[in-house]
Amino acid sequence: MLFPDLPARLAEVRDRIATAAARGGHGQKVTLVAVTKTYPADAIRESWEAGVHDVGENRVQEAIGKMAAADVPVRWHLIGHLQRNKAKLAERFALIHSVDSARLADALDAAGVAGGRALDVLLEVNVSGEGTKGGWAPHEVRAEAERLATCVGIRVAGVMTMAPFGASEEVLRATFSGARAARTVVREAGHPATELSMGMSGDYEIAVEEGATMVRIGTALFGARVA
Ligand SMILES: *Cc1c(COP(=O)(O)O)cnc(C)c1O
Repeated sequence: MLFPDLPARLAEVRDRIATAAARGGHGQKVTLVAVTKTYPADAIRESWEAGVHDVGENRVQEAIGKMAAADVPVRWHLIGHLQRNKAKLAERFALIHSVDSARLADALDAAGVAGGRALDVLLEVNVSGEGTKGGWAPHEVRAEAERLATCVGIRVAGVMTMAPFGASEEVLRATFSGARAARTVVREAGHPATELSMGMSGDYEIAVEEGATMVRIGTALFGARVA
């Protein structure tokens, strides 16, 4: 076993998620997405054996390599930037969390139409306004969601956000509640929009308190990344 501590760490994370969900009072179900980027395929196999069903990677090529190497029936989530010229590869994933531009949304729509199956996606919302992050500002979400309402190649299942690294609890709450409001806007535009992907190792409890339905957790499960 490459990750002998994984079962105990997983139990603790699941416990903290359940407690945070009860505190938050949103009544949502929370899916734990184990983020295995930079770790070998063993991380995925051992996660599956420990009862994890959802795995997230931030690079398409790395993910596709590990799909073959790990060979377990997890759901694969793409959580990092996707180049438009790789939109066709999106069909290998259960959910694309990181749709960060209108041009990428259009490329995925075209890929879904060409493949004969709508691709499940989340719109990335840049609540904090950091220049280094992609995605739509909260005030841009309504227009984009309305523009995408007629697309048949994608199914907008919700929104994703990332909080500023090391932010105060106040900023984290503002970021996560802003994403929750953006999901309502997407739903009002006619999309299914049930999912709210937010929260990483350092901030997932606050994200769950604010209504996260998916948390993306790497280091709290597998230890520090060396890369
Ligand atoms: C790496 C990554 C995570 C997980 O980060 P940890 O701090 O290791 O839990 C979550 N979301 C995205 C988009 C990431 O790239």
